[in-house]
Amino acid sequence: MSSTDTIIIGGGHNGLICATLLAKAGQKVMLVEAGESLGGLARPREFHPGFKASVAQTLYALPKSVINALDLGQHGFIPSNETLTTTALSLNEPPVTLAGSTIAGACEADTAAFTGYKQQLAVFSRALAPFWSKTMPRIGATGLQDLMTFGHLGLNIRKLGKADMLEFFRVATLPMRDLVDEHFTGESLKAALCWDGVLGSQLAPRSPNQGVLTLLNRMAGHWEGEHYAPVGGMTAFIDALASAATAAGVTLRTGTSVTQITITGSEQGQRCSGVKLDNDEIVTSERVISSADPKTTFLKLVGPRHLEIEFSNRIRRLRSKGYVAKLHLALSDLPKFTGLETPSGRLILAPSMDTIEFAWDAAKYGELPELPVMEVSLPTLTTPGDAPTGQHILSANVMYIPGELKEGWTDTVRKKLTAQLIAQLDGYAPGIKALVLDSELLTPDDLQQQFGVWGGHWHHIEPAIDQLLMMRPTYEAAQYATPIDGLYLCGAGSHPAGDISGNPGRNAAREILS
Ligand SMILES: Cc1cc2nc3c(=O)[nH]c(=O)nc-3n(C[C@H](O)[C@H](O)[C@H](O)COP(=O)(O)OP(=O)(O)OC[C@H]3O[C@@H](n4cnc5c(N)ncnc54)[C@H](O)[C@@H]3O)c2cc1C
Repeated sequence: MSSTDTIIIGGGHNGLICATLLAKAGQKVMLVEAGESLGGLARPREFHPGFKASVAQTLYALPKSVINALDLGQHGFIPSNETLTTTALSLNEPPVTLAGSTIAGACEADTAAFTGYKQQLAVFSRALAPFWSKTMPRIGATGLQDLMTFGHLGLNIRKLGKADMLEFFRVATLPMRDLVDEHFTGESLKAALCWDGVLGSQLAPRSPNQGVLTLLNRMAGHWEGEHYAPVGGMTAFIDALASAATAAGVTLRTGTSVTQITITGSEQGQRCSGVKLDNDEIVTSERVISSADPKTTFLKLVGPRHLEIEFSNRIRRLRSKGYVAKLHLALSDLPKFTGLETPSGRLILAPSMDTIEFAWDAAKYGELPELPVMEVSLPTLTTPGDAPTGQHILSANVMYIPGELKEGWTDTVRKKLTAQLIAQLDGYAPGIKALVLDSELLTPDDLQQQFGVWGGHWHHIEPAIDQLLMMRPTYEAAQYATPIDGLYLCGAGSHPAGDISGNPGRNAAREILS
């Protein structure tokens, strides 16, 4: 048996960030990661000899404040200032390319509307940005700090001025479709503009409530939501996080799973006393902080017998079904996409908002869409070292692929879907099929098995209005502390949500130190 001040479960970016900040504040911290290496869903791994990719492969939501709090620059992190373009691709329309607030290839009316649209969203995103890095007040709390958080939000929105404030209230909960329909006419352009509002969630363009808020949250990163590949790729980013943790004195243990969070009961109630590891070793600690998703943390590692029935029911009911699959292709050469000189940046293969909606319609019933929609990129254009010289990786986020497939996931289904996706890509990049050396398809079911994320959900749990803010993951655990003394959460299942933002990890550390 060994002992430490703090145990962090999970070495994804949030676990690493929380661990580093606590160690910097003087705590003795041990981080335990089940995978063979660090990074969670952003962990770089070889999927074919010489070809290295990570499931999460671009940055957009990571704020400067997190980069600065960890001095990541001192540990080799360089957030490239060359942001990635987003290109709407369609077999029926010419490509439309977006770069910041500029647009190329669209009709005159859409071109005229775009800059104003982007600037308006940026204004709203800046007003909301401070709230992603705050601890949400407890429901019913009337303390000064809680009132100040609400007051700050109100003031920021009031400071928008009357016209913008009214417009913010009007659009904040609109379906993405209604928002973009008001401004644009191009079908593939509208689909691409919806993409960042719905990606990773159980939402499609017609879904009400949180599409616009998700988009505004994503725009709060370093380059106002523009995607970028860090210099040296995700390997350099994860190495920088690991280096910051090591320099702060965190003990990093990879290839080790926590099998149980140990609970000691007394007349004063339940207290978390440490963890049990997969080699049966017990490590005791003053606190345990879990970056694993809430269902894994409470239902698997704590166990319902230590939880109030109402709380465990709330955790059980959390919606956490993932619908994004990752396709990796090892390519012998750079593919040629029709209409593009180079396939740089993000390519959105969704001809219209209806195509996105129809793909979701099938997935909601546990079926595979007839025409999946995809976000494609070639990370080796920015990080050539991740594949042998002259060869490339194609990485695609494929929506909507249900983790719980009605017919069940088998190798035959995986192979059939992979062949369908490659054939679909061949329509946009004729000849790509012949360049494929190998492929890997990670369904949400595979993400659950390989990365320990319940349901394989992008955000650990759905960022729906009833699972956000002071309700994330439930109202009893929304301030990072949980109903069990000494047990905290710090992963994507906590406020504000998933993406590589580091906000849950940083916020949890601040709460624990306060
Ligand atoms: C297909 C896909 C593509 C994505 N692409 C992007 C992208 O390009 N950019 C972006 O910003 N976001 C992306 N995301 C979202 C992003 O990856 C997640 O929201 C983010 O990784 C969550 O970070 P985290 O640190 O909270 O958790 P995770 O990254 O899930 O890390 C949690 C860690 O905990 C470990 N763990 C779990 N249980 C245990 C246990 N019992 N013992 C020890 N360790 C344990 C796991 O092994 C894992 O390493 C993507 C998600 C998906 C599904």
